Amino acid sequence: MRVLDTAALLYWPVTEITGGICSVSQLSELQKVSEQRHMLVSNLDINWQEPVAEWLENARTAAANSGDLPRLSSVDLDILALAMGLDLPLFTDDYRLQNTMQMAGLATHPVGTKGAKQVWQWELRCTGCGSTEAVPPDVESRKTGPVKDCASCGAPMVLKRKR
Ligand SMILES: [Zn+2]
Repeated sequence: MRVLDTAALLYWPVTEITGGICSVSQLSELQKVSEQRHMLVSNLDINWQEPVAEWLENARTAAANSGDLPRLSSVDLDILALAMGLDLPLFTDDYRLQNTMQMAGLATHPVGTKGAKQVWQWELRCTGCGSTEAVPPDVESRKTGPVKDCASCGAPMVLKRKR
């Protein structure tokens, strides 16, 4: 068993996601980034959980200890609380989550690599006109909502694996 962050829900094949443990709050996060993916994922056999208060408190304490707490979203904290509370490995590319988990002595694995060699690269792709651009450095707001609107046509831009 393993806890999956939202990047895994976005980019992993269905067979890999099935059976994973996720926080209920990830569903609305996913919906903001990709309606299509949200529809797909919400029909999969995923163990959606709501972390209990004690687990959340432990997660906040661990994140405060590592110094990462101010930059973690509430969804991040939910995921962290599940992984810590269930004592399961966390799959995430978020270095703050990785950092907190490692400081707490728990295992993390990257979402975006295969066999720890192939690194995935992301870009923003417009859902309207299809134009692409590099991910801007201030895009950590992906955790709390849509990435941004297309400068050309105004449609939402979503994170895609770079071709
Ligand atoms: Zn566009």
